[in-house]
Amino acid sequence: MSVDDKAHDECGVVAINNGDAPQSTDAARAAFYALFSLQHRGQESAGIASADGRRILVRKGLGLVSGAFSEDDIESLTGSVAIGHTRYSTTGETSVRNAQPFYVETMHGPLALAHNGNLINAAELRRGLLERGVGLSSSSDTEVMVMMLAAAQGADWPERIASCMRSWKGAFSFVVLTKDAAYAARDPWGFRPLCAARLPDGGSAAASESCALRTLGCDSPADVEPGRIVELGPDGPVARGGVDAAVRRASCIFEYVYFSRPDSVWNGVQVHEARRRFGAALAREAPAEADVVIAVPDSSISAAIGYSQASGLPYDEGFAKNRYIGRTFIQPTQALRDQGVALKFNAMPGTVRGRRVVVVDDSIVRGTTTGPLVRLLRDAGATSVHVRIACPPIRHPCYMGVDMGGSGGLIARRLSIEGIRESVGADSLSYLSLDGMMLAMEKAGYGGNGFCMACFSGDYPLDIGGVADKNGFEVV
Ligand code: SF4
Repeated sequence: MSVDDKAHDECGVVAINNGDAPQSTDAARAAFYALFSLQHRGQESAGIASADGRRILVRKGLGLVSGAFSEDDIESLTGSVAIGHTRYSTTGETSVRNAQPFYVETMHGPLALAHNGNLINAAELRRGLLERGVGLSSSSDTEVMVMMLAAAQGADWPERIASCMRSWKGAFSFVVLTKDAAYAARDPWGFRPLCAARLPDGGSAAASESCALRTLGCDSPADVEPGRIVELGPDGPVARGGVDAAVRRASCIFEYVYFSRPDSVWNGVQVHEARRRFGAALAREAPAEADVVIAVPDSSISAAIGYSQASGLPYDEGFAKNRYIGRTFIQPTQALRDQGVALKFNAMPGTVRGRRVVVVDDSIVRGTTTGPLVRLLRDAGATSVHVRIACPPIRHPCYMGVDMGGSGGLIARRLSIEGIRESVGADSLSYLSLDGMMLAMEKAGYGGNGFCMACFSGDYPLDIGGVADKNGFEVV
């Protein structure tokens, strides 16, 4: 059991063409730095593949980007094009075998692929490959993607990529490396973010989030539109066709709630601004008789600032967070869970003693940490604790690549809001409404064409019939 009570995304991807000489390692180095900026999207493994016009070289490692590669690894990754990946694994062992990018030899030359999202028809596609005698070495849907691409028909790689995209259903923002080119593409529904830009000294880059491109010095990252394929050219990103965008678009609203970094911009909205507006809307919908507003750091800070601004209550730091624990696994007993939360957070008595406290959190998934956090505040002297959640109750699992731990664990599926309040020991507890959230996105200037909000509403943008739970499409 993880110490935190958060939904987990699967991955971050990056692709680079810096137009350098094939013996240079600067493309791999740029991918490495971009992956640093995407570390929040996955901490269990990382990988980089580079291509020098003849061959593809791959290095992968477990853990954080900083520990997954040595200087020798980066020095060995020669070539002017590279792709990279950072992974959060949802099931099974965390092994290098499942780390990305996946690499294969094809009749058109070497090929590597890295992916963020999940194919909801992966089990069916996997069976199809096995029936055709294609061997598979992992439980990952990304391997299914790369093997399908290896065998795809088409005059060139963009055509082959497009032909595969027609059979894939679900969330897939992905990057592809061939012996001399890098591509980035996004599913027709547009579930996960993906953007591309020209690099300041020539060349181009694509990444899951704009924060990674800004780290590389790009000043105007643009979203890769749903269904589109972009080649990372030596003079900038070049459109290379794709498939029709879906009629029903489905940008994952949870990217704004929790996953994305606050400085990233997607669909024209900076994530911090969306969260600030969620907090402000929450303050209007669910005011509290209180003296101070605090956040559960770090992902809730923007929403807590918004709550403070709209309510007129002062914002202050109420928890100190140990940022070096990472994803700690402990025994799932309540006592050890409490201990895990205490390892990660300390309440600040100077802020909360003798005061009525509003504590803003971005979301509650299983409800395992909210109770211990409320207890920490009471132990530090808070006279009352009002919990405010800057999104609606999560009652439905995600089938598009977000690990919510299965529907059975979702506390809002099992308990009423009053039941949750009681179980976490808060004086009051309120969630932001779905309408309030949508209005906040509109006010923040959302320029996209539609959201996926299925984990709140149960209204899935795709037919999910037959997909029982997240394990169902990872292993046949
Ligand atoms: S179900 Fe929720 S987490 Fe999954 S894609 Fe839709 S909005 Fe995002």
